[in-house]
Amino acid sequence: MPHVVRIISTVFVTHDVKRFVVERPVGYKFTPGQATDVAINEDLWRDRSRPFTFTNLPTSKRLEFVIKIYDDHEGVTKRLGQLPIGAELILHEPFGAITYQGPGYFIAAGTGVTPFIAILRDLHRRRKTKGCTLLLTNRTFHDVILDEELIRILGDQHFLKVFTRQGVIGFTERHIDRDLLVALVQDFNQKFYVCGPEKFVSDINGILLSLGVSSQSLVFES
Ligand SMILES: Cc1cc2nc3c(=O)[nH]c(=O)nc-3n(C[C@H](O)[C@H](O)[C@H](O)COP(=O)(O)OP(=O)(O)OC[C@H]3O[C@@H](n4cnc5c(N)ncnc54)[C@H](O)[C@@H]3O)c2cc1C
Repeated sequence: MPHVVRIISTVFVTHDVKRFVVERPVGYKFTPGQATDVAINEDLWRDRSRPFTFTNLPTSKRLEFVIKIYDDHEGVTKRLGQLPIGAELILHEPFGAITYQGPGYFIAAGTGVTPFIAILRDLHRRRKTKGCTLLLTNRTFHDVILDEELIRILGDQHFLKVFTRQGVIGFTERHIDRDLLVALVQDFNQKFYVCGPEKFVSDINGILLSLGVSSQSLVFES
């Protein structure tokens, strides 16, 4: 059943990523890592729902989404980026295969980090982040979402960043590839959580499988 909720606040967390805090319908439950289809409750937009991931704690009074705004075409995220406080969204039921299944390596590209934000925030609240490492790839340092918070949650040693475009002193400028995974990952006998564009997920899963990770240890949205 669709739920109509109001936007309570919005703020840019990078140059093109906006955090939306919205009302939480009574009894609306999700598991950290899950997403829902979201539409804008306006005549031209009601039928164009898009999936976005909850980033708030499961115990929060409000829901939160962290959304990359594509300003270059007239899509849903561009319109979302223009909405004022009080505008209405339509949420559907939560779905998604990415849920926490034990300590491991979280590998994300761009906004693919959102399910891991939800999972890591929840683990942090329960003091259970031990054994978790996040490896994130972005184009540049300026594209990293919630950098300070993720450093606080995981510490520098367990929050690793890879930049594909702009050189930033002190950080590796490269792609996540086989050589990098061999160099960074000590133990391939653990859970691997992978999220990002479809090709990224299939490439990383392929590399992990070829390095001996069992298919049951891979957690991703198929
Ligand atoms: C399960 C799931 C969870 C997700 N969670 C999140 C999340 O938490 N946060 C988040 O930011 N994203 C998330 N996404 C991705 C998000 O759903 C898409 O970014 C969103 O649907 C884009 O909607 P849009 O209408 O603005 O763009 P669309 O029109 O649907 O276009 C999508 C892609 O095509 C490109 N594109 C299409 N047409 C044009 C054009 N004419 N010119 C230029 N580029 C074009 C866009 O750059 C973009 O990459 C998630 C996706 C899935 C599957």
